[in-house]
Amino acid sequence: MEHKIEPLYDGPLFRNAIQTLEEAAKIINCDPNVLERLKRPRRSITVSVPVRMDDYSVKVFTGYRVQYSPTLGPYKGGIRYHQNVDLSEVVGLAALMTFKNSVLGLPLGGAKGGITVDPTKLSRTEKQNLTRRYASEIGPFVGPTQDIPAPDVGTDPQTMAWFMDTYSQENGGFAQPGVVTGKPIEIGGSLGRNHATGLGVVYVAEKSFEVCKMSMKGASVAIQGFGNVGSFAAKFAYERGARIVAVSDVSGAIFNGDGLDIPEVMEYVKAHKFLKGYPKATAITNEELLELKCDALFPCALEGQIDVHNAEKIQAKIIVEGANGPVTNSATKILHKRGVFIAPDVIANGGGVIVSYFEWVQDTMSLFWDEHEVDNRLKTIITKAFDKGYSLAAEKNIDLRSAAMAVSVQRLEKAMLLRGLYPR
Ligand code: NAD
Repeated sequence: MEHKIEPLYDGPLFRNAIQTLEEAAKIINCDPNVLERLKRPRRSITVSVPVRMDDYSVKVFTGYRVQYSPTLGPYKGGIRYHQNVDLSEVVGLAALMTFKNSVLGLPLGGAKGGITVDPTKLSRTEKQNLTRRYASEIGPFVGPTQDIPAPDVGTDPQTMAWFMDTYSQENGGFAQPGVVTGKPIEIGGSLGRNHATGLGVVYVAEKSFEVCKMSMKGASVAIQGFGNVGSFAAKFAYERGARIVAVSDVSGAIFNGDGLDIPEVMEYVKAHKFLKGYPKATAITNEELLELKCDALFPCALEGQIDVHNAEKIQAKIIVEGANGPVTNSATKILHKRGVFIAPDVIANGGGVIVSYFEWVQDTMSLFWDEHEVDNRLKTIITKAFDKGYSLAAEKNIDLRSAAMAVSVQRLEKAMLLRGLYPR
């Protein structure tokens, strides 16, 4: 019988999450009662957020915090400020965080939050007012041992600083850095957080090359997106001897068959904001970048970039998903059949949440690690998740995305059965 999604939660992202959950449940023969519970969020909170604007008028925005599952630990997930945010999107993202934290083996549950607002239209003061009131409204439901938000699209370390200050003022006045992660270093942020996702992508790429019996050294790599994830992935892959033949951003893509000088490209972007016009390369389109003949492709920009329309045209042998959902489920099946190896987002871009977890641990201990320690611990966790998923994929002869989801659901199932249902 097809599962009927609560109308309030129904949207493409959540529907997709439920579909992958159901597929994974079949692979591990999941307990039906557990599956039933995993299909719904534990709690979804909707708040009105009144804000005094710079012209003294008051505007009321809608904010959300969805706490999907607390089975494995305190809720954890980012806060998104975007005009398209709605409850169904936040529920979908909260479900994905639950599955990601589980497959990575973190002692954390899954959550997500957001406000329906275009943050580029707000002044700094308005953004601060919005953040502080939102933090106050969801304050009773969050805390260092309850629910720990982090930045997402449209929010940044400064937003987290305001959130942390508001929570601290309302709960005794002393600093409680453990309430959010992704903070500036000066107030309890972690070293290594800024480059964590890109570095994680490269650790996973190294493993992918290894299982495909290829070497990253000398391999040709194309990277879509040159923001936080893409630029650091390019830098770390370059440092490991990969030949980065193409990179792209919203302004278009650049190609150099001999390999781009990534530190120089990063300097160029610092000075010119975009890749467009970089002199030592040829301009190509983003579509051409995706379809280049190369050893590996790291899509690090947007979701849905490789779907049934271009899956047959992809020539890379390995795809490492730096972005969330860049390859659709149907495209994954086509590529898997063609022998293309895909390292899925839930593992490949897990570096961000893993180092967020480290930040929370360091805040709780009030003891801070050096960058080397952060990077090494990240490698241990992300490699272990890859190995676990890969052995299940090999055993069942399935793609790594399905295997990763299966590992995730299995861990949740075990924990839920051990904890039982309250009251019985
Ligand atoms: P970002 O805003 O720093 O960078 C995005 C990059 O993509 C920019 O270079 C932008 O110009 C480029 N881009 C936008 N549209 C494009 C297009 N049509 N073609 C090519 N390039 C385009 O964002 P980010 O933090 O690097 O995040 C990128 C992806 O990674 C998102 O899917 C995000 O959800 C995911 N992600 C990020 C983190 C993190 O820690 N930053 C963690 C996990 C997942």
